[in-house]
Amino acid sequence: LAAVPSPTTIFDKIINKEIPAKVVFEDDQVLAFRDIQPQAPTHILIIPKNKDGLTGLAAAEEKHCEILGRLLYTAKLIAKQEGLNDGFRIVINDGPSGCQSVYHIHVHLLGGRQMNWPPG
Ligand code: 5GP
Repeated sequence: LAAVPSPTTIFDKIINKEIPAKVVFEDDQVLAFRDIQPQAPTHILIIPKNKDGLTGLAAAEEKHCEILGRLLYTAKLIAKQEGLNDGFRIVINDGPSGCQSVYHIHVHLLGGRQMNWPPG
């Protein structure tokens, strides 16, 4: 049986260069670009080019461990590239209660201002 194709999102259009984005990092697996509605001086989204069913973290299976690690490691590389030497925040929103709006897994990298805890 053929796998059911996962629904596409706006992020597929960004990956395919159908709509513009301010790309800050790209390799064969991962793309990172500035959020269109930044919540901090630095606000970058890090996404897998092939989401492989990862609409969000709740959809993760063991086979996704490598890409999940790659997203976090890329976030660290970009934090350094952005000069966030004093700290930063990583966020993964999941599902309606988690305020997820795009169902293509992504890591938010936020920095350049003091973060608060607990978050709202
Ligand atoms: P979520 O709420 O799903 O965790 O985050 C989705 C993020 O994608 C939001 O912060 C939103 O501002 C961002 N976003 C949505 N559409 C676009 C777009 O077309 N371009 C860019 N650069 N960011 C987008």
